[in-house]
Amino acid sequence: MVSIDDVKKAQRELKGIIRQTPVLTSALLNEKSGNRIYLKSEHLQKTGSFKVRGAANAVIDAVRKGANYVTAASSGNHGQAVAYIAAELGIHATIVVPEDVNRAKVEAIKAYKGEVVYCGTTSAERIPRAIQIAEENTGFYVPPYDHPDVIAGQGTVGLELIDQVPEADIIVVPVGGGGLLAGILTAVKAAKPHIRVIAAEPEMANDTYLSINNNKITAIHGTTTIADGLRTSQPGNLTFPILQKHLDGIVLVSEDEIKRAFQFMLERTKQLIEPSSAVAIAAIFSGKLETADKNIVAVLSGGNVDLHQVKNFLTESSTV
Ligand SMILES: *Cc1c(COP(=O)(O)O)cnc(C)c1O
Repeated sequence: MVSIDDVKKAQRELKGIIRQTPVLTSALLNEKSGNRIYLKSEHLQKTGSFKVRGAANAVIDAVRKGANYVTAASSGNHGQAVAYIAAELGIHATIVVPEDVNRAKVEAIKAYKGEVVYCGTTSAERIPRAIQIAEENTGFYVPPYDHPDVIAGQGTVGLELIDQVPEADIIVVPVGGGGLLAGILTAVKAAKPHIRVIAAEPEMANDTYLSINNNKITAIHGTTTIADGLRTSQPGNLTFPILQKHLDGIVLVSEDEIKRAFQFMLERTKQLIEPSSAVAIAAIFSGKLETADKNIVAVLSGGNVDLHQVKNFLTESSTV
């Protein structure tokens, strides 16, 4: 299992490569939730999401072991992160994307000098292709969450925030494959075990919720939640045992709750975050944490939004 020492090592490796993101506050957010809310702002991270932490930590290690070619199977934040870090380190990145990918995502990968390869429409087609391209080039395939270096890299978010918000009582983390959550749990539960760490997940993509309840990895099929960073079908083989060991709870939120949180954040706090990040705010607004007067950190995991999509993330419901 990944240890806090792995996370501390990742923090040293990432120095000068990633940004220590700010923690923002909002009086309006405090008032609305009845708690003190701290926003760990990974939407302001390089490449627009925390994914660059895990990708960079894994790629740095692979390069040290001789790789000069990396691949990934993601048109989203992970693909951008791998392309970015490869360019920074001066090595080649091939990013395998679905044939129906939108142009903005391809442009973002190309802007980071990644080579784009189109393959199928499902991750079941893309992942083997990305692994194969890596093998053909004696390169390294960078998994999005289920790798010790990726988990350790994401855990640096946890190390930073226990420094930045020493008074934290609760940390709320959006969960997809669980790399971010497992990393944060590893750091926080070793350094400050009294802090409660809660996962936030869409009702429509409740694979982690089901897996925790069933005590075994349980898959869902074909979700269309607007929180596209959380559409992973199941938790990882490495991430899940860490969640099982340490996680204090999971809050599920509806699509309308995600939209209300997204709209509130944009309109009231002026922060453009992804629906995947809004899930953490939605969990706090849901009242399901049953807290008052606590110091709650919400991890805003990313801010990459196709602006043409924004109208689909808005709601008729009142947000205040
Ligand atoms: C990938 C991603 C997540 C989920 O992270 P996991 O490590 O897969 O749980 C959450 N938010 C954003 C913005 C992401 O890109």
